[in-house]
Amino acid sequence: MRKRIVAGNWKMNTSQPEGIELVKSVIEKSIVVPKAIELVIIPPFTHLSEIVKLSKGTSVKVGAQNCAEWSKGAYTGEVSAAMISSIGATHVVIGHSERREFFNEDNKMLYRKIKQAHESNLIPIYCCGEKLKERESGNFFEVVEKQISESLFELSKEQMLQVVIAYEPVWAIGTGKNATSQQAQDMHAFIRFTLAKKFGKDIADSISILYGGSCKPSNAEEIFARPDVDGGLIGGASLVADDFITIAQSF
Ligand code: PEP
Repeated sequence: MRKRIVAGNWKMNTSQPEGIELVKSVIEKSIVVPKAIELVIIPPFTHLSEIVKLSKGTSVKVGAQNCAEWSKGAYTGEVSAAMISSIGATHVVIGHSERREFFNEDNKMLYRKIKQAHESNLIPIYCCGEKLKERESGNFFEVVEKQISESLFELSKEQMLQVVIAYEPVWAIGTGKNATSQQAQDMHAFIRFTLAKKFGKDIADSISILYGGSCKPSNAEEIFARPDVDGGLIGGASLVADDFITIAQSF
């Protein structure tokens, strides 16, 4: 059975004291979430170490929002996967659409970041998804297929099993306009089919594929009910502990 995951991407929000209050609240409320659901908090870098300490011994895991494509060296301002791993974080988001758009991250660079994550035993949460223009022109399956093949197809089967995928249509991120559960299911099934062609059906069937894009308490249940949707990558709604927990209870 695939792991069901609800991950909260805080983006560049909260001061460190605010982040600590928020994670304490999430941890406290998380007792109502079935143990089988994995919760991952993804705060800004400055909060990571403190939040990892607070989450020790709880069911909440902690991830970073990005990592460098290199292991170490003269790359001012960058943070390596090894550094993230060394403080006890377990996950790292790779290829969020905001990184692709504002920092020109492309599929090949994202492959290098995924390799770095794996070398430091981090689970990459690899984001893919089409822009509005691509949805409207009807070539959204091709766009996502390219993102999947260029960033993931050089991995071994064993490495592929250590990847979580987040399908996040760019037009749904932070817009309040989520994909319908049918649109999410169709793309998730397509991603799984694409993975099966390369890595085999058993591996494709084992990979958790999360939906992201204006996922909130009012729509999570319908989206998570779809057979190929294994959870969510939650932006705005993860900044409110009650909303995040309600989403995690929506399976
Ligand atoms: C995200 O940033 O990954 C995201 C899904 O944001 P939101 O939930 O706010 O649309």
